[in-house]
Amino acid sequence: MPDQPTRFETAAIRTQAPRSAAREHAVPVFLTSSFVFDDAEQARALFAEEIPGAVYSRYSNPNTDEFVRKLCLLERGEDGLSTASGMAAVFAALAALVKSGDHIVASRSLFGSTHQILTRLLPRWGVSSTYVDASDDAGWESAIRPETRVLFVETPSNPGLDVLDLDRLGALAKARGIPLIVDNCFATPYLQRPLAHGASLVVHSATKWIDGQGRVLGGAIVGDAALIAEARFFARHTGPSLSPFNAWVLSKSLETLAVRMDRHCQNALALATHFEGHAALEQVRYPFLASHPQHALARRQMSQGGGIVVLVLSGGYQRCRRFIDALALCSHSPNLGDTRTIVTHPTSTTHSKLTESERQAVGIVPGLVRISVGLEHVDDVIADIEQALAASA
Ligand SMILES: *Cc1c(COP(=O)(O)O)cnc(C)c1O
Repeated sequence: MPDQPTRFETAAIRTQAPRSAAREHAVPVFLTSSFVFDDAEQARALFAEEIPGAVYSRYSNPNTDEFVRKLCLLERGEDGLSTASGMAAVFAALAALVKSGDHIVASRSLFGSTHQILTRLLPRWGVSSTYVDASDDAGWESAIRPETRVLFVETPSNPGLDVLDLDRLGALAKARGIPLIVDNCFATPYLQRPLAHGASLVVHSATKWIDGQGRVLGGAIVGDAALIAEARFFARHTGPSLSPFNAWVLSKSLETLAVRMDRHCQNALALATHFEGHAALEQVRYPFLASHPQHALARRQMSQGGGIVVLVLSGGYQRCRRFIDALALCSHSPNLGDTRTIVTHPTSTTHSKLTESERQAVGIVPGLVRISVGLEHVDDVIADIEQALAASA
């Protein structure tokens, strides 16, 4: 077998499941729940995990293997596993590493469901968490306790676009011997590789930019082989498995991630630049705008600014309602990372389960809308947002 390709685009396209007897060019979908054994000895060795190979699709399947192997190459991770959704990846990564009495330190700005896991589900099993504000660099050190087992961050964060210093956090994690888990959903491995900054694990919602076309749910955990073995044990026996079909879609999607992200980022920067200083807006947030509080850090740690732009409308929730209802081209949906531009109002939808003060603490004000900038012509997207802002006045 030739050496594994290392350049991003080539690895994303040329990493494939072994060809079958049919000599196919594109990899087929292996819609099979189990696999047959050549003989009794092979069955024993496969179950003992002494040799690689598929046994049962709850454990693995040629399609999920291909997706994971590719994502490991792109993130430069030793090993990985796929899951049915991003939340299954977040939960499996945490559940594999903590037990009753343990403690987690996490950045305050987190995806809504991750926040629910930390504040409402894990405490049922005796696992507590402390949040650190994005602006509080010194807070991490003082939040760590003897029983802290995980540092968990999301950067850039959803939806506030806080950017956290991965070199600093990675060094702290290494110094204290605590694994750092990074939710790399917003950046994707094309823009940012947390493992190179000292993270032990990366978790993904593959539903977003990795699929990129709003079709399937999926997730993955990639990184340190010993920690992945723990997560794999948890997932094998609890069953948050990715379906072969979804894995096939996601592996195909990775083939075009680089070209899609280039255009998403280019469109997002154009849109953010256009709307900065607009009379109807209190604020425009985008990591690669000079006005972003962590602009220099974002430029150091990410190759481009990502596909999400945040607008804060003057006029609060009522203005946002009128704005969203006036949009003619952009979709109003909770998803992100699609070819279609999507507008979301976190206060009334994705982050409505947080309390008012929890939202305030992470900057989710009632006038905030999240724009997932798509691949339409950016002038059409800008024109739609312009007309909806005018109509909502
Ligand atoms: C959407 C999202 C998740 C959850 O992923 P699902 O695939 O919807 O389960 C986790 N983290 C971030 C940052 C997300 O945007």
